[in-house]
Amino acid sequence: MITGPNQPIETLKGVGPSLQGKLARLGILRTTDLLLHLPMRYQDRTRLVPLREVRAQTECLVVGRVVESKITYGRRRSWLVTIADDSGFLGLRFFYFSRQQQASLSAGMFVRAFGEVRFGAGGLEMTHPEYRGYHSLPPETERELTPVYHTTKGLGQARIRSLTLQLQAMKWPENSGTPYSTLLFLHAPPADTPLQEIAVAREKIALDELVAYYLIMRHRQSDRAHQRTIPLPQAQQLGRVLLQSLGFKLTGAQRRVVTEVLEDLARTQPMLRLLQGDVGSGKTVVAAFAAIRAAEHGMQTALMAPTEILAEQHYLTFSNWLEPLGINVILLTGRQTVKVRRQCQAAIAEGKALVAVGTHALFQNSVVFKNLALTIVDEQHRFGVHQRMALKNKGRAAHQLVMTATPIPRTLTMALYADMDISLIDELPKGRQPIETRTVPESRREEVIRRVGEVLATGQQAYWVCPLIEDSEQLEAAAAESTEQLLRKSLPQIRVGLLHGRMPSAEKGQTMNDFKDGRIQLLVATTVVEVGVDVTNATLMVIENPERMGLSQLHQLRGRIGRGRESSHCILLYKSPLSETARTRLQTIRKSCDGFFIAEQDLKLRGPGELLGTRQTGEQQFRVADLRSHAHLMPQVIATGDRLLKEDPGAVKRLLEAWAPADTGHISV
Ligand code: ADP
Ligand code: MG
Repeated sequence: MITGPNQPIETLKGVGPSLQGKLARLGILRTTDLLLHLPMRYQDRTRLVPLREVRAQTECLVVGRVVESKITYGRRRSWLVTIADDSGFLGLRFFYFSRQQQASLSAGMFVRAFGEVRFGAGGLEMTHPEYRGYHSLPPETERELTPVYHTTKGLGQARIRSLTLQLQAMKWPENSGTPYSTLLFLHAPPADTPLQEIAVAREKIALDELVAYYLIMRHRQSDRAHQRTIPLPQAQQLGRVLLQSLGFKLTGAQRRVVTEVLEDLARTQPMLRLLQGDVGSGKTVVAAFAAIRAAEHGMQTALMAPTEILAEQHYLTFSNWLEPLGINVILLTGRQTVKVRRQCQAAIAEGKALVAVGTHALFQNSVVFKNLALTIVDEQHRFGVHQRMALKNKGRAAHQLVMTATPIPRTLTMALYADMDISLIDELPKGRQPIETRTVPESRREEVIRRVGEVLATGQQAYWVCPLIEDSEQLEAAAAESTEQLLRKSLPQIRVGLLHGRMPSAEKGQTMNDFKDGRIQLLVATTVVEVGVDVTNATLMVIENPERMGLSQLHQLRGRIGRGRESSHCILLYKSPLSETARTRLQTIRKSCDGFFIAEQDLKLRGPGELLGTRQTGEQQFRVADLRSHAHLMPQVIATGDRLLKEDPGAVKRLLEAWAPADTGHISV
């Protein structure tokens, strides 16, 4: 008999190579991983619900006798079995069924069924319940709540359950610090366990996991303390020259942050700094000062942006700012012609280009820097961790500046980015006007178009953002094209442009330039304009189907306007009817322009995945912890983690072994 944690999962009974492969897909390689693979929820098959007490939209277990079994012909042919107990009746409906099934449930038989109850044609019904017929009263019900696990193709709930049952029978060390008994409890809570008790147990495990994650981050941080890189102290006065040519004065926050960054760069320990600042707070110029500092030493900077449009725009901005200082800037994207790319790569390899701006093309193996000293990652939440690391490895331990406009509440930041130093731009440039946001139903589209025409007639510019179509760039592009046609027709005097992800790169660049220079007045775009795009004269944005978007995304999109001194307007053209959450979301975005407030609401209104860019980065994917319900644990996470580091190396080791096995890559380190 196996005892204890950390056994290979194939030591469990019934785990052959095929099952092992499926479990591996869930990150389950050891018995401990299975133990940590907690149920998403539970079904209650411990309690029989009298038929009269059955409610719609609930899952329950019932027992009754068949009073009628018949085929009905409504919209679809179906088999309806009506059962009864002393208290009432319930329908069991099947759209797919066999003769055998029909024959097995004849009048008078007992049936036990489990399923979700809904309102059907004839009142309350269970559709396709799990059921079994009996000739006499069915045996006892289950004694524990039934766990429902997150699973993968070809791996059924019953199979996972049979494995976790084996865990229950195993011997787990006591008093080891690991909450084994809590974990075992969560796999099979006894009947009548209050939900509250389950939540408390889960929270205990989540705390364990978050502390482990925090310890990993701290580990990385102290690793960095031992790394050495080339220090970049103040050399010439090129920064001052830029300051004078900018045409605006830095805000106090920008000055403070620039100082923080430049001080970091002067050290031999590589910088790893996260620069947070709401959309439009002016992060780009901070990056420019850092690049100038490297250039003063003849060292190279790589600036990476998540989209070609943004890379191109940064390239233009940086060229404008740095070329007059004699600093050569180059653009490298995946869609350049082979010839142009070769030339750019040569310039990077020879060190002629001191600043290389690009997309992820920047960190392909064919790109070799002569002397990379600094990497800057813009819109960090858009990148995968692996990409970020690949770039870092290019120049041994280069200084790193990571920028994000995704505001994360402070306590979260401190725990999740414990490996980084943090700078915050908490002030917008002077003279910015708040964006006025209105929600308008789609039925008033004509009116909105007229309004757009009026605004454009005054010489200002506008964006028209087309619906987000999940998973189909093609459909999204098609929608944008037809909207463009419509707007051209409705506003014949207006110069309309089109921008979507499927356009050739050069064409996108041209369109963006035309918009920037005012040759295009109205830019019809997909959500590709979401990140970074900066055209100050654009003061109006129409967003279609905003109800499909997350709060943070809406805030980012809207951040494309309100960048100049003119007052800006945003129109959210929604499709009715709105769901309750969609309504709350739109209300939030209408009332607030504060990225931090919006982020907090976002955290409340939906999973934090989107807020933190989990989908894109895979970074904050915890096994048990859920930042929405566990954010409040963060102060405790930090306190506990710090204490363990000081006092209890054994506990640190245990936590890291349990939660961060080297080869699953489940927590990105
Ligand atoms: P973000 O933080 O969203 O990346 P940007 O760096 O794109 O913001 O800056 C937004 C706009 O504000 C740009 O046009 C930039 O030139 C301008 N800007 C930056 N700092 C200031 C400032 N201190 N005063 C006025 N305008 C500024
Ligand atoms: Mg930006």
